[in-house]
Amino acid sequence: MRIPFVVGNWKLNKTIAEALAHVTEIKNQLGAVKGVQVGVAPPATAICAVAKRLEDSAIAVCAQDAYWEPNGAWTGELSPQILQDAGASWIIVGHSERRQHFGETNETVGKKARAVIGSQIGAIVCVGETLAERDGGRTLNVIDEQLAGALDGVMTTELLVIAYEPVWAIGTGRTATPAQAQEVHAHIRSQLASRYGAETSQMVRIQYGGSVKPSNAAELMRQPDIDGALVGGASLEASDFIAIVKAARPS
Ligand code: PEP
Repeated sequence: MRIPFVVGNWKLNKTIAEALAHVTEIKNQLGAVKGVQVGVAPPATAICAVAKRLEDSAIAVCAQDAYWEPNGAWTGELSPQILQDAGASWIIVGHSERRQHFGETNETVGKKARAVIGSQIGAIVCVGETLAERDGGRTLNVIDEQLAGALDGVMTTELLVIAYEPVWAIGTGRTATPAQAQEVHAHIRSQLASRYGAETSQMVRIQYGGSVKPSNAAELMRQPDIDGALVGGASLEASDFIAIVKAARPS
C-alpha cells in the first residue's frame, strides 16, 4: 500500500523566524495524524532551523530545488549534499515555476533528479502541461516527454515521487477535476510500469498539485492513483495545510 505524502511548498515566503513559528504551529496542530507522510519545503535559508525544530517529529524537511553538481564554482547554487547537510531529506525538482521562469528543461531536470537520487535523497519530480498544451490535446505527450527527460538514468524508484502539477492550476485557483487528475495519474503510472515494471509502478507515489485546498482535497485524494499532494498557497496557513493532510488519510 502506498502511504500518501503531503508536502507544503512555501516557495519564496517566510523568514527564519516566520518559518519556525509556522512549522511549530503545523507540528502542534498535526498531533498524531496517522497514515500520511507530511513534509514542508521552506526557503533554503530556513531549512537548517526548521530541521532542528522538527528533530523529534516525523515531518520531513524538503528543499525546493538543487543543482546537480556536488560542489565547485557554481555561484549561488546549492547541491543535494549541501541541502542534506542542512537537514533536507527530500528535494523538489522540475517545479513548473523553475521551468517557466528559470529556463529549466527536461534535460536539466533529469540531471537534477539523477543527482538527488544518486545522493540517496528523495526526489519529488514535477511534471505538468500548460493550458495551451492541454487545449491542443497534447497533455499526455508533454507528460511523457517530461518523464523521459527526468527519469532517464534513474534506475531505482525507492526515493522517487512524481508530482503531477498542471501549470494552469498552480496558484490560479483553478483545480483539475478529480477525473482529469486521475486520468493523468493513471497514465503516469502506466509509463512507470513500462520503465520499471508493473509491480514497482504500484509502489511509486504520485502527488497531485495545483490549487489544492481543504474544500477540494478529499475528492482528489479519493482517486485511486493520487497519493497525496504538493501544496503551494494553502500550505502557508497551518489550519488549511492540516485539513489537507487529514483529507489524504486512507479511509
Ligand atoms: C505548487 O507550487 O506546487 C502548487 C501546487 O501551488 P498552489 O497550491 O498554490 O497551486
